[in-house]
Amino acid sequence: MKEVDVFIIGAGPAGSIAGAKLVEDGFSVKIVDKLKLPRFMIGESLLPRCNELLEKANLLDVVKEAGFQFKGGVAFRNEEGDFAALNFSQNLGQKWGSSFQVKREVFDKLLIDEAQRKGCDVEYEVEVIAYDENENIITVKNLDGSEELYKAKKVLDASGYGRVLPRLLDLEADSHLALRRATFARVDKDNRPEGEQNGYIFVDVVGDNEAWIWNIPFSDGVTSVGVVCTEKYFKKFNMSDEEFWEHIIYNNPSASKRYAESKRIVEVNSLSGYSAAVTKLYDKNFILTGNASEFLDPVFSSGVTLALESGSKAAELTARELKGEVVDYKVEYEDYMMLGIDVFRDYVNGWYDGTLQTILFSQKKNPEITKKIVSILSGYVWDKDNSFVTSSKYALEKTYEMLKS
Ligand SMILES: Cc1cc2nc3c(=O)[nH]c(=O)nc-3n(C[C@H](O)[C@H](O)[C@H](O)COP(=O)(O)OP(=O)(O)OC[C@H]3O[C@@H](n4cnc5c(N)ncnc54)[C@H](O)[C@@H]3O)c2cc1C
Repeated sequence: MKEVDVFIIGAGPAGSIAGAKLVEDGFSVKIVDKLKLPRFMIGESLLPRCNELLEKANLLDVVKEAGFQFKGGVAFRNEEGDFAALNFSQNLGQKWGSSFQVKREVFDKLLIDEAQRKGCDVEYEVEVIAYDENENIITVKNLDGSEELYKAKKVLDASGYGRVLPRLLDLEADSHLALRRATFARVDKDNRPEGEQNGYIFVDVVGDNEAWIWNIPFSDGVTSVGVVCTEKYFKKFNMSDEEFWEHIIYNNPSASKRYAESKRIVEVNSLSGYSAAVTKLYDKNFILTGNASEFLDPVFSSGVTLALESGSKAAELTARELKGEVVDYKVEYEDYMMLGIDVFRDYVNGWYDGTLQTILFSQKKNPEITKKIVSILSGYVWDKDNSFVTSSKYALEKTYEMLKS
């Protein structure tokens, strides 16, 4: 049996940032991924909070040097002609007022390579298949079918949609969000807006809020285009993924113009039922991070931010514990993470019930409210000086009441 200080399941953003921080703190770290990176991953639009977290983990320089598309904000449109563009620099004074649009096959490989360069022992095509929670022993299966055991002082689950420990330890919980489906592809030669909004993510509301389209421009001229709706709505069309994607894109007034001269360059793909929750985020021997814990919804591009935040936090707390400190994981990890997750959840619910769209599209909202919302949509969902963080649901309800007429 091999021994290691920290064993990390998964080489996505949560695993890489946690590993990079822990080796810099002097711990031995093993990271395994069942796939070989680079690999495709959904989740291509980052938030400014990501920059802050990457900077703190000494990972921002490699990201900046990679030439990713600069993302200065987010724009929302509907079919009635309502439009709202939010510039991330109009926040509540936070340092990072921009981020990047990234092809995850490039971004994730960059981060894991950097974690490896810093000292993490990284292995691909090694799958975690069993976990003894009491002894903290992980069983992995290699590509040739052979199995190996690892004993760790701490296990971080960063397995994303693999949800390794929630599955193995029966920690899955109902997410309470409707069953939704994303149907997506990449295209070339889109008509991008000029100027400041060139690198923004554009979110197009379809029909009467029945679906929405993401438009994520990359720096090489390729654009990621996805449609999100309930499974129920998708089924009504009785179409294949490809037919449905084309039907929605080319019947939407904004998207059809943007992609008038585009060619689809990859197969249309889909994902369904991705929202997930867990009964607990940690126990004595393990911590769940990123999508292996809770995943809400893609609409505000919060996934990688939450993955980097939880990976960083889990690493910091693990380091303190392994150095002999008593760590209160309930307060410092679970309560902390849930504050940010719950703020995003209120925004996701507000998006789908239409209240947030009323607020976003209103011409009457004052600049202070806009800044608070920009700050949240930038990923600063732990900023207790922002009243839209500390009482997010109440603030949204009151703002909606004020602006709806
Ligand atoms: C439709 C859709 C659109 C999205 N759009 C965005 C967006 O625009 N912006 C954004 O920030 N987020 C977005 N997300 C969310 C984003 O995809 C995730 O939040 C993010 O990838 C989570 O990162 P992670 O590090 O937790 O896990 P991942 O990136 O999923 O990495 C986990 C790794 O673990 C490995 N693994 C799994 N099982 C095992 C095992 N048994 N053994 C070893 N390794 C294993 C996997 O191979 C994988 O490489 C979107 C999600 C969806 C569903």
